[in-house]
Amino acid sequence: MIQATELLYMDDSYKLQDSAIYIDIIQTEGGKTALILDQTIFYPQGGGQPYDLGTITQEGNVFSVEEVRFKDGNVYHIGKFTQGVIEKGAQVTLHVDGERRKFNRRNHTAGHLIDVAIKNLGLSLTPAKGYHFPDGAYVEYIGLMDEAQKEELKSKIEAEVNRLIQLKLPMTAKQVTYDELKDLCDFVPDYLAHDKPIRVEKIGEYKAHPCGGTHVNNTEEVGGMKIEKIKSKSGNTRISYSII
Ligand SMILES: [Zn+2]
Repeated sequence: MIQATELLYMDDSYKLQDSAIYIDIIQTEGGKTALILDQTIFYPQGGGQPYDLGTITQEGNVFSVEEVRFKDGNVYHIGKFTQGVIEKGAQVTLHVDGERRKFNRRNHTAGHLIDVAIKNLGLSLTPAKGYHFPDGAYVEYIGLMDEAQKEELKSKIEAEVNRLIQLKLPMTAKQVTYDELKDLCDFVPDYLAHDKPIRVEKIGEYKAHPCGGTHVNNTEEVGGMKIEKIKSKSGNTRISYSII
């Protein structure tokens, strides 16, 4: 039917405007309208990170992007024409909402910094899940935290994350093969998406980890982080956090 969308946000988390070719228009199962492009800077929801918002324009015509999803190799830019219409085959301009992207970039990266802090503190917790939404972000691990030490560890993790932020560590990402991934990373989660290019991300000189989300280029941009709550029960530890 259509070619797979090239995922430009994988190469540059900061690009908020770019061009693309409008290939097709699809009605989703839920009755929504989705535009398919040859390439995109819009982040489709996934890996615990929310989708981008923005607009797709061509001259005076505007398609408002209200939701972005990834399906069968393609990015679905879901929304509606709010001004005029755009003909298939046209070159369009993509505009990503910069404030929302910036927050997601920072909030998502903060979750990774908790992983590094956990490792630096020598805690035996295995990453299991991340939820990097504005309403109650958390990272979840397999393994328990001693109840008596919870409060102390909460302060220690928070201090370590803020230290990593203040160290202004560079962050780099690159696409790799599945075999390279196993060499580069301590831990390869089984929830890794197999229908997208595999990318690893590296914070400073710490061991890389697989991730397809958008990140800051330097940990300094995260600003600051507060651990809200730690819940450790039924074999899992959930660390809730917010960026400040
Ligand atoms: Zn990430």
